[in-house]
Amino acid sequence: MWNNYGFWRNLYVNLKQLYYPAGVKQVFSTEVLVVGGGVAGICAATACARNGAETLLIETNGFLGGNGAAGLSFAAFHDGRKQIIRGLAEEFAERIRALGGLSGRLDRDRWIPVDGECLKLAADEMVIRSGSRLLLHTQAAEPLRKDANIVAVSVETKSGRLDISTRMVIDCSGDADIAFRSGVPCKTGRNSDGKTQSMTLIFTVAGVDWEPFEAGGGYAELVRRFDIIAAENHFENPRRNGLSGMFAVPGRPGQVAFNVTRVLHLQATDPAEWTRAELAGRRQAREFVYEFLIPHVPGFQRASLAAVGHGIGIRETRRIVGEYVVTEEDICQYRKHECSIGCGSYPVDVHSPDGSTTDYRRHEHIPGQYYTLPYPMLIPQGVNNLLVAGRCVSATHEALSALRVMPNCMVMGQAAGTAAALCVRRNITPRELEITSLQQKLLAEGAYLGEPTSRRKPIACGPILTNVPVT
Ligand SMILES: Cc1cc2nc3c(=O)[nH]c(=O)nc-3n(C[C@H](O)[C@H](O)[C@H](O)COP(=O)(O)OP(=O)(O)OC[C@H]3O[C@@H](n4cnc5c(N)ncnc54)[C@H](O)[C@@H]3O)c2cc1C
Repeated sequence: MWNNYGFWRNLYVNLKQLYYPAGVKQVFSTEVLVVGGGVAGICAATACARNGAETLLIETNGFLGGNGAAGLSFAAFHDGRKQIIRGLAEEFAERIRALGGLSGRLDRDRWIPVDGECLKLAADEMVIRSGSRLLLHTQAAEPLRKDANIVAVSVETKSGRLDISTRMVIDCSGDADIAFRSGVPCKTGRNSDGKTQSMTLIFTVAGVDWEPFEAGGGYAELVRRFDIIAAENHFENPRRNGLSGMFAVPGRPGQVAFNVTRVLHLQATDPAEWTRAELAGRRQAREFVYEFLIPHVPGFQRASLAAVGHGIGIRETRRIVGEYVVTEEDICQYRKHECSIGCGSYPVDVHSPDGSTTDYRRHEHIPGQYYTLPYPMLIPQGVNNLLVAGRCVSATHEALSALRVMPNCMVMGQAAGTAAALCVRRNITPRELEITSLQQKLLAEGAYLGEPTSRRKPIACGPILTNVPVT
């Protein structure tokens, strides 16, 4: 009997069913539960499973990729001199390229156009091959807490509410859903009024004729004309003095993706406001194509609106308050933390919550300069077995506007997944994890954590540093 795995497994399951309240079906258990399959969750689940932990990734959509699946460009993987984003992020990018969905050089280009469909396929492949399990169409609803630990997460599915027991959770929901509902302190938007960065629906236009477009002045002329036509025709789209961008979609001749719509004053965690944002985004996409591009821009006369993103792009909702809060100074002064889990170079880029402008601190992005991401930014206050990665990490409104880009989110995801696996194996909490062992693992996985000398600069990272030896 003592060697009978089936017996002990059944006893374990039966005891757990006794423990859980009636009416809650407990069908899954895992060592690490990753909530949200955007680029952060993809990297978190992959890293966690590869490091030997039993991992389950759940995603409310029917595909992986999150906002990245809308078809955007990766922000730069370099600092103007050398490539600083490596490890899983680089592997993921190369997998997308192998499918024909990425153009450009990671070590040189400022923007790296990505086809969202190829990103979804590459994500499926990378996550499944890592050994992580995957549940799509599954929405995390409620964490079940026992003291300072999450013991299970209730999820909504078409079979009803299920209960997934777990030893560790990584919240990559973008909205800090699990952290927030576990009681972790969270912040929303800017300090003055809580307003978040504006939302943008990404859309793709087919049938573009490049020759007349370039001959007619190209993108600079398109931007100039938009201001005039939009003002004359009282467009719903409030953007003026610059649009965020357009790029040719890799592998799709004649197709171009636009990042130009802007929806203001609405919070994406409020379902009524989120719905209004979706409707406004689609109206603005239609307005841009049929009232501006086709009648007024050379090269677009035979074009049509080919696809809009699966949902409006959300730049900002909740941010956790963690063991360290990354600030605008950390970003703009290129601070190096000894507890680095990776690097970033994207500058502060606040899309106005209530106006037509974008506050992009271009002048502060100096070639060869990068900041590092401190491990305690992933550790929320108040819960022991939770890590957070992606656009809901611990940062100020201004700092988040830099941290939120995909390369940074992937770096955080890899670090969170690796840390969770180490914690499960050693039976410790993320707070107890020695930073050097995480750094060694990340370096062995090909990540870049910054120059060793710069990592030694003593920037306080909060209480966690008190028991962390200097590397
Ligand atoms: C319009 C726009 C343009 C951008 N342009 C660029 C760009 O050009 N380059 C760049 O690098 N970055 C860009 N960004 C930023 C970047 O795309 C995002 O910040 C980044 O992709 C966020 O990744 P994430 O994994 O943290 O979150 P998300 O992409 O938001 O993913 C979160 C995932 O979790 C799922 N989820 C949420 N709640 C739950 C739940 N309760 N249960 C289960 N699943 C859940 C969601 O469905 C989603 O798939 C842009 C952002 C926007 C909005």
